[in-house]
Amino acid sequence: MLEDMHRLRMTKQRKVILEELRKVTSHPTAGDLCDMVRRRLPKISLGTVYRNLDILSRQGIITKLDVAGQEMRFDGNVEQHYHLRCRGCGRVDDLFMDPLPGLDEAAEKMSQYQVFGHSLEFVGICPECAGKKTATDSLREAAGRN
Ligand SMILES: [Zn+2]
Ligand SMILES: [Zn+2]
Repeated sequence: MLEDMHRLRMTKQRKVILEELRKVTSHPTAGDLCDMVRRRLPKISLGTVYRNLDILSRQGIITKLDVAGQEMRFDGNVEQHYHLRCRGCGRVDDLFMDPLPGLDEAAEKMSQYQVFGHSLEFVGICPECAGKKTATDSLREAAGRN
């Protein structure tokens, strides 16, 4: 099978892409990752990075965070965990909360699906963005007082 061939013969490029992705917990986009990989492989193209990320995610070696309307991000950690996405800056953080009990069973009961698991993404405002807002607000308040 094609997939087996890929597994047996991981190219240097793919190895570097995987290593760089596993170094971070920032869930980079293909573009972010391309910049990171270029420090080691200056000539690599975004298309090559993208293609390799696609192969790695199809093999289950990495996870693709694919939310409709959002730029695709990638995760080198394939252990089950939840995510938080900031509405302000778009960053995605890990949330190592225990999986909600009974959720998979409930989904199975409501559908004809055999459910193996779930992924969950919370949406909110990160502490940094919340902090920025507070700083701006206090500046505005100060200006208003003068
Ligand atoms: Zn933010
Ligand atoms: Zn993650």
